Amino acid sequence: MSNKIVGIDLGTTFSAIAILDTIGNPEILPDLKNNKITASAVYLSSNNESKVGSEALSAIKAEPNRVITEIKRHMRDEVVYSLKEGKWIEKSFDQKLEDEFTPAQLSSKILEKLKNFSENIDKAVITVPAMFANNARQATIDAAKMAGLSGYESDVVELINEPTAAIFHYANLPGVSISGKVMVVDLGGGTFDVTIAEVNGKKVDVIHSEGNPNLGGKDFDRILLEFMSNQYKEQLGAELSIDDVEYLLQAEELKKVLSSRESHGIILDGPNGPSKKIEISRTQFNDLSVNLIEAIKLKMESCVRKSKLHKDDITQILLVGGSTRMPCVVDAIKQVMGKEPTKGVNVDEAVASGAALYAGTITDKSNLNEAQKEAMSKIDLSDVANHYFGTLAQTLDEERQKYFQYNSIIIEKGSKLPVAKTNQYSLIQDQDGFPATVTQSDGPTENKEFVHIIAQERVDIKDGKKDDEIQITFSYDKSQIMHCTFEHVASGKKHEIQIKSKSSEEVDEAQKEMKNFTID
Ligand code: ADP
Ligand code: MG
Repeated sequence: MSNKIVGIDLGTTFSAIAILDTIGNPEILPDLKNNKITASAVYLSSNNESKVGSEALSAIKAEPNRVITEIKRHMRDEVVYSLKEGKWIEKSFDQKLEDEFTPAQLSSKILEKLKNFSENIDKAVITVPAMFANNARQATIDAAKMAGLSGYESDVVELINEPTAAIFHYANLPGVSISGKVMVVDLGGGTFDVTIAEVNGKKVDVIHSEGNPNLGGKDFDRILLEFMSNQYKEQLGAELSIDDVEYLLQAEELKKVLSSRESHGIILDGPNGPSKKIEISRTQFNDLSVNLIEAIKLKMESCVRKSKLHKDDITQILLVGGSTRMPCVVDAIKQVMGKEPTKGVNVDEAVASGAALYAGTITDKSNLNEAQKEAMSKIDLSDVANHYFGTLAQTLDEERQKYFQYNSIIIEKGSKLPVAKTNQYSLIQDQDGFPATVTQSDGPTENKEFVHIIAQERVDIKDGKKDDEIQITFSYDKSQIMHCTFEHVASGKKHEIQIKSKSSEEVDEAQKEMKNFTID
């Protein structure tokens, strides 16, 4: 039995396999040509040979019916791919023909290929979309079984949700720590998924996930191909075939270059006519893509809304999928969410890497060496403050020469725990006491109407004078307990309050309960 720890991203357009190296870092296993991602395409020849990946794709021109792509889209369906008909057809249970294959059977070929990138791999964690239906999950498990893969905890391969794997990957990057409510934006070749998950220590709970199964990199390729074809026609008066695989590949290449360059040109060889150089700038490309970008924005907004959250509740946005390399996607995220996403280098390897890390955390520790054990214990999914915390202070309205009360924030939401902050205030008049107030709010508001007062106690002081300094220290520890100290510096009098924070749900719940009581 082997003790290789691997995770597999069985993607719609590309798949990848990652292994935990000897020091506990996930590493993508490349194929013989050193490619780190493998096209999720299967070719079945007439003499029972199969090919997977780019080799399968290169058979598309000659034998289009025998090359099957986007298998994952059909995992939940009761369908088979008919080689004879060259399409997916409804499965008739009693008479599955010899040249008909289920999505699980076809997927098993991809898994088998990845498994053979290294010797002695017989266990894996496989990732699936968070929204994957039960039967699609079962089909994935069946595919793994057919490929000779079992799990780390049982004979059945373990599945984890793709966004969860991505969170594990990001949490393992140097200098990154993940916590709170995290959004994972995954734009692949043909699908778009947005997920909001709550990360609490090493626990990752998906709050909501939604997506568009028909929106991905391919749509951007088609837009570019249309542009290329229109330009060709305008300038040379001849047609380019939109369905031509070669042109589509050229469009995809052009798209990728535009992710790193402001403009680019390609030479188009006409089907029967002369060659033509077509130039396009990134700005032009962005203009052509507005509808796709709009659809992406709407999905993100809807995901936040359906999670019953506000965009400011999201502590981090993680990018996954090759298509998030497009600058227009990053810009769209910034516009909707009002913050920069966390970028990994290898967005198309994140899911497989995270799955390998996850496999490392669930495998029997006897399968790990000391360095790997150490690395697994360090997977840093840490906690952050889940609200803003502050106090009520007074400030002078210069114009009206009157004091008014406002919320003064001391601890920012999203601060990594433990955190301690001290602010200075002063007495506005001679007084023998002051209220020690602790507020909690979802947003960074100064308006006292929008905060919850979670503690309020009176601090007695002797002989307080106008302008005496009051030092307020809030420290929030790892177990989410807040210690608040209010100190009258002149007399040395300290007043302490200890508060356990409430989650937004608890606060909402508590508020609802109160609303049931009528006041007469
Ligand atoms: P999957 O759909 O299987 O999850 P990936 O996450 O690997 O697939 O995404 C594949 C998509 O990413 C393809 O449409 C590909 O063209 C696109 N892509 C990869 N690199 C870039 C890039 N540099 N710029 C724009 N798109 C890219
Ligand atoms: Mg993917």
